[in-house]
Amino acid sequence: INATNDEEASARVAAVDADTGKPTIFDKIIAKEIPSSIVYEDDKVLAFRDISPQAPVHVLVIPKIRDGLTQLGKAEHRHGEILGHLLYAAKIVAEKEGIVDGFRVVINSGPSACQSVYHLHLHVLGGRQMKWPPG
Ligand code: IMP
Repeated sequence: INATNDEEASARVAAVDADTGKPTIFDKIIAKEIPSSIVYEDDKVLAFRDISPQAPVHVLVIPKIRDGLTQLGKAEHRHGEILGHLLYAAKIVAEKEGIVDGFRVVINSGPSACQSVYHLHLHVLGGRQMKWPPG
């Protein structure tokens, strides 16, 4: 079994709990019950460094209130405002990290995309030449 298969397997396990409304590790990060390296924060969103960085800059941007947004694939019209706010926050993060001239924003939605935490999050990646297509 290789690392890719491990990721796919754990994504399938995570998806089982996706719609239960169960808290995720991100709730503990929001509550500051577990430490994180915060890059940006306002009343609606929190941005912190990914624990397993895939690029020199790898920051996650999340809504402080999940409000049913376990994954992008569950978004409803009422989520439009927070979705826009998250995207703008990603740009602020890129600016703060000095990568605004070239960066990538990724949202994995569902097991086929290897989503592993069911609290919507944007990955902000940069600081190296990114490749296309992604895996
Ligand atoms: P996903 O695979 O798109 O769901 O992304 C979840 C991300 O959360 C992964 O890149 C993980 O490395 C990251 N992650 C999981 N737990 C923590 C943590 O406690 N702190 C920071 N990042 C985390």
